[in-house]
Amino acid sequence: MPVQQVTILGATGSIGKSTLKVLAQHPDQYQVYALTGFQRLDELAQLVEQYSPKVVVVPDGKIDAFRSLLALHCNDKKIHAIEIVEGEAGLCQVASAAAVDVVMAAIVGSAGLKPTLAAIDAGKRVLLANKEALVMAGELFMQRVKQAQATLLPVDSEHNAIFQCLPTDYFSSTARFANHGNRAGVSQILLTASGGPFRTWTLQQMQQATPAQACKHPNWSMGQKISVDSATLMNKGLELIEACHLFELPVERVTVVIHPESIVHSLVQYIDGSTLAQLGNPDMCTPIAHALAWPQRIATTVPPLDLFSANCLNFEQPDEVRFPALALAKSAMKTGGCAPAVLNAANEVAVAAFLANKIAFTQITQLIHAVITQINVLPAHDLDTILVQDLEARELAGQWIMANANRTT
Ligand code: NAD
Ligand code: MG
Repeated sequence: MPVQQVTILGATGSIGKSTLKVLAQHPDQYQVYALTGFQRLDELAQLVEQYSPKVVVVPDGKIDAFRSLLALHCNDKKIHAIEIVEGEAGLCQVASAAAVDVVMAAIVGSAGLKPTLAAIDAGKRVLLANKEALVMAGELFMQRVKQAQATLLPVDSEHNAIFQCLPTDYFSSTARFANHGNRAGVSQILLTASGGPFRTWTLQQMQQATPAQACKHPNWSMGQKISVDSATLMNKGLELIEACHLFELPVERVTVVIHPESIVHSLVQYIDGSTLAQLGNPDMCTPIAHALAWPQRIATTVPPLDLFSANCLNFEQPDEVRFPALALAKSAMKTGGCAPAVLNAANEVAVAAFLANKIAFTQITQLIHAVITQINVLPAHDLDTILVQDLEARELAGQWIMANANRTT
């Protein structure tokens, strides 16, 4: 296979850096075409020095500032060879450029939606980490994957695990899950969740939880937003919606299982009583490498699982009273239309407010509930409607914060 040209949307983030680590191990198979960053532009300049992309994308208005940073890290020859573009148009450009084969969609939140769709519309091989994009625009997103014949591969560890455990004829099967039916012998998906840092905390304890405590995940090292989502279990709620779209499943066919060790990354149950699972050490380099190379395999530095030294593997029911995010997500998926986009937008605003110490941890889900009940959810016929509802939800969330900030209830 010719060398694959890779764009990394969100290169300065946790997934972006793990992707660069995997690519660096296989220079004969992959080359970095473009890197993008939003905060920490100094780090982006260092990545340019290290990986020599052809194009870099910076936020609007930051080209000159970034050139000055580059001058600190790179020689003149490198600086002259590089194209620097800006903003959403720049992100869409590097996601869809003719020279690009693979796009890693690893921007956090709704900002990743348009660039990810641009990669899909251009028929690229899209490695999807940016779950919020799929949650916001689920049906439209999957329709566009089919229309453009893009190859969509899940990077989220649970969805990557499920993808690995599904039968090869799953996606070509015309059978659906209606009336207790199955699809290619699959009856159920079990989505594992670590339970996050507050798995054993009481609601009273969670009311006092600080951003630092919420971001201290027991098993995974991740960006701040997904770390808080893991602490509320909204990450699992978003993943449940993600699974329904990726694997064309009704919400009733997905069961969330708390598994504190994060060794079993998810499971697929079959009608004959078989349950297949994918196991491994919790390191995102594994699903990234799998999605990059599929249907082949490439090596990573992740050590193989040592079952002899692994402790017990535990499994528990989630507690939807202490963690209302799960029920909120299920309900949004059942409502359909723009409800998941509203859920996602309210969550993004709530998490940012919690990280800025404006609201208490337990107010995150209170805010989301308040926004969802207030808004008139529209059908998600087109991207414009989804974006209008996203904005409406953000405005309502902002008002809720003004009215309720720091009032722990
Ligand atoms: P992160 O915060 O570490 O990195 C986010 C990246 O997005 C950074 O490069 C940042 O510069 C960029 N970004 C942020 N706001 C932007 C904006 N407005 N416009 C353009 N770029 C912007 O996050 P992460 O942990 O790497 O997660 C990235 C995505 O992958 C998220 O959707 C997350 O849910 C998903 N994911 C992450 C993990 C993980 O282990 N970190 C696992 C599964 C899924
Ligand atoms: Mg995950």
